[in-house]
Amino acid sequence: MQPPSRQLSNPDLPIYSIGSVARKLGVSVQTLRSYESSGLILPRKSSGGQRRYSESDIDRLECIRQAITHEQMTIAGIRRMQSLVPCWSIIRCSDAEKANCPAFREHDGGCWTYTHDGNACSGRDCRACDVYRLSTSCSGIKQLITTVTDTHVSEPSHQH
Ligand code: SF4
Repeated sequence: MQPPSRQLSNPDLPIYSIGSVARKLGVSVQTLRSYESSGLILPRKSSGGQRRYSESDIDRLECIRQAITHEQMTIAGIRRMQSLVPCWSIIRCSDAEKANCPAFREHDGGCWTYTHDGNACSGRDCRACDVYRLSTSCSGIKQLITTVTDTHVSEPSHQH
């Protein structure tokens, strides 16, 4: 049977097994599990509880592999980098929501790795959120931060 085409109309369809993704990327299943347990990726699960990856997930994994193999980043380093995305400005959290949000206080992983109970992200699907989707590479993170700073930072006045 032919593998599903990579030119799917919906790149977010979760259709690939962990074994097929591991073969495609040339990594072990254990490596993919470690990326998941580290909070770098959020694969969906089938009704039978099996991991299912989408085209978007594979793109994300390729970015993670690039960072590790070509940019000498560690998993911990990627987590730290992702933790610095100012999601509270992108989501526009109130001061009260920030005070109640571990992603605002901590710096050990992307905001999607923290509990959302009772804060602005309660009930949101992180996989559909730009903060999660763009936080795979330095360029994506810079794009997110640029969006925020362009919105919130005005030109400094030049007083001499
Ligand atoms: S929805 Fe998820 S990824 Fe988006 S800002 Fe909230 S916690 Fe982060």
